[in-house]
This record gives sequence, structure tokens and C-alpha cells, in this order.
Amino acid sequence: MRTVEEHQKVVAGLIKARAPQDLPLNDTLRMVLAADVVAPLSLPGFDNSAMDGYAVVADDVASATEDTPVRLPVAEDIPAGRTDLLTLQPGTVHRIMTGAPLPSGATAVVPVEATDGATDTVTIRAAARAGQHVRRAGEDVTAGTTVLHAGQVITPAALGLAAALGLATLPVLPPQRVMVMSTGTELVAPGTELQPGQIYESNAVMLAAAVRDAGAQATIAPMSADDVDAFRAGLAAHATDADLIITTGGVSAGAYEVVKDSLSDQVEFVKVAMQPGMPQGAGTVDGVPIITLPGNPVSALVSFEVFVRSPLRAAMGHAAPDRPQRTAQLTEDLTSPRGKRQFRRGVLTGDSVSSYGPPASHHLRWLASANCLLEIAEDITELTAGSTVPVWDLT
Ligand code: AMP
Ligand code: MG
Repeated sequence: MRTVEEHQKVVAGLIKARAPQDLPLNDTLRMVLAADVVAPLSLPGFDNSAMDGYAVVADDVASATEDTPVRLPVAEDIPAGRTDLLTLQPGTVHRIMTGAPLPSGATAVVPVEATDGATDTVTIRAAARAGQHVRRAGEDVTAGTTVLHAGQVITPAALGLAAALGLATLPVLPPQRVMVMSTGTELVAPGTELQPGQIYESNAVMLAAAVRDAGAQATIAPMSADDVDAFRAGLAAHATDADLIITTGGVSAGAYEVVKDSLSDQVEFVKVAMQPGMPQGAGTVDGVPIITLPGNPVSALVSFEVFVRSPLRAAMGHAAPDRPQRTAQLTEDLTSPRGKRQFRRGVLTGDSVSSYGPPASHHLRWLASANCLLEIAEDITELTAGSTVPVWDLT
């Protein structure tokens, strides 16, 4: 049997990064920057007003107080967006709005609240310090500065900065395109009627969501019956643009193991010493990496967590692709099979963790409300309440 680490290495070796691409800003949230971003311009781009008020020569209003106001003619009105270049003559003021370009010659802005707000001759009731309420060109960003760094995850604020700098695209490591296909003649799409012996197909939507949650793109191919020709035809038809194929089902020891039967020359089918998720496969089909997960829903999702999620994120440039791992104090006694790494579903509350639901691989209900995986080593068969266990934080 293969160890968990051995199979992790095999899967990681198959998943390859795509070439960096320039993508429109709106498509890049949470992607990783492929190159440094150097500011093509300064921010602010020009001296402008930080307040609605009046652009003045500070010396002209030096004596203004509540009791001895200064009255000055308003020579111009400058709303935000005015593009002609103005000059303020001493002894006059310009009415100016927040973000509007400061006229040359002006040395300060008096906020409208310190005036009577007039548009012909304004009464000013407060002195202004030189530079008051003026945003200087370049005080935020100087053109030529590296403002975002390769390897950085793109956040909403990073997108705001890029747009403010006039950039329409960002260089990113593009998302992996993952095709998910489930197999099983017993499977029926949710929303349709079940015949006796049939069950609703649940792996594809679950794994596609896990793929998207990891930051990749997912497409769901039509599920395949346990028929070699149908399965091969489905793969050929739907895997054309995929960087990675994930199948579920058809890899264990039964009589109708369609994935195993179809791909035995391209995929290595192995047993991994873990529970759940023992039967696994990994290989390439026409050059496209394929990971064949077991069909039991809990096995499928736990296997995705253990083998696929990290290399998928690493291929998209994430420097720390793993789930956060920590330890917690177990609240109960647990047993685990000798020789297998057990991943129990758990609920982590503060520093305490309880296992959640039975260890068997079809108990989806428990997985749906768990917030962590408890990892129990191969050589451990019994754990007592209070022992320290490693935990994968799934939140
Ligand atoms: P298999 O790995 O194909 O032997 O499937 C193992 C178990 O998981 C069987 O009980 C299947 O019915 C079930 N199963 C396989 N694929 C799916 C799926 N896509 N959705 C729900 N259950 C599945
Ligand atoms: Mg099956």
C-alpha cells in the first residue's frame, strides 16, 4: 500500500501551472499576481482639494476669525472633473469641490463650513494654514514605484489600486480548468424521479464546488454509466479544455469498475493506507492529468482535500496552498485502524475538537456540518480524551 505522502507526491507531480496571462481586473479576484506591478502614474495625479470649499492664498485670509471675517470675490467655480488649467489671482478665491484640481497660485482650501457659501463674494470666518486641505500630487503613489508584488493574492483593495493607476488588466497565474465527472449506473440527477436501486448523484456538484472554493474553475461533464465505451466517449468529448480531470467511482475492487477498466494503461490504480479513501488512481489521459477518486461521497471529498486541493492551489501560484493545520484537545476516546491514516470529520471549538459522525465513508450528513478533519496517524489505534490531535481547519 502507498502512504498518504507518497500519493500526495504523485498527484502533485501531475498538476502543472498554466502560463501567466493578463486578465481583465474584474476576473482576477483571489488570483496570484504573476509579476510585480509598477505604477505608471502618480496618485493623486495632480494637486487637488480635499474639501468642498474655497481655494485661497493663505496670506489673504490670515486675519479671518469668527468676529473679523474676510470678504473676497469668487472668481471661478471648479467642480470635480474640470479639465482646464486655472490660475488664482491674489485677492480672489475660487469655489472648489472635493477632488477638483487646485488652481495654480492657491496655497490652501478653506472648507465651506467656515464660510457663508456665497458664489459672488464669500465671507470667510477662519484663517487657513498653507497647504491646508490640499492633496499633493504623488503623496499616495509616485510613478515608477512597485506597488504590488509577484506572488501577492489579489484582494478587492489591490483591484482598486490597479484601477486607480489606470490598469485594465493584471498579470496572473490563471485558474486551473478542472473537469469533474462522476460514474455509476445507479446515479440519477437531482430533480428527477428515482427508480428502486437508484440514488441521486452528489459527487459532481460537491467536487466542482470544492474546486471553485480552491480558486480554480470547474465544469461538470455528464455522468457516465458503468460502461467502458460510454465512459471513454464522455471523457473524449468533455475533457478538451481541461487542465485536470477528476472522476469519482469505479476504482475499487468490484466487478464493474468502469474507470479502472477503461484507463488501466494510462492511470496507476493504487491502494493508499488511509481511511476513508483507500482506492485511488492518478495518471494522464491524452496529456491531461487525471485523478480518479473513489465514489463514496465522503471518500471523494476527503480525498480531494488530502490529495488535490493543495497542488491545485500551488499550480495557481499560492505560496501557502495547504489548509491551515493546528492541534486541538480531543474531547472523547477514539479508535482508529492500525496501518491506516484516518481522517475523521470533526467539530473544532476553540482548542477542543470532537469527532463528528461515524468514520464510514458514506455518512455525508456529518461531513456537511463538520468544520475540520482530525488526522490520526497510522500507528495509533486508540486515543483517549484529552490527547492532542492534529486538525485541518476546513473553514
Ligand atoms: P464506487 O466507488 O463506484 O464503487 O462507489 C462507491 C459508493 O459510492 C457506492 O455506494 C456508490 O453508489 C456511491 N457513489 C458513487 N458515485 C457517486 C456519486 N457520484 N454520487 C453519490 N454516490 C456515489
Ligand atoms: Mg460505481
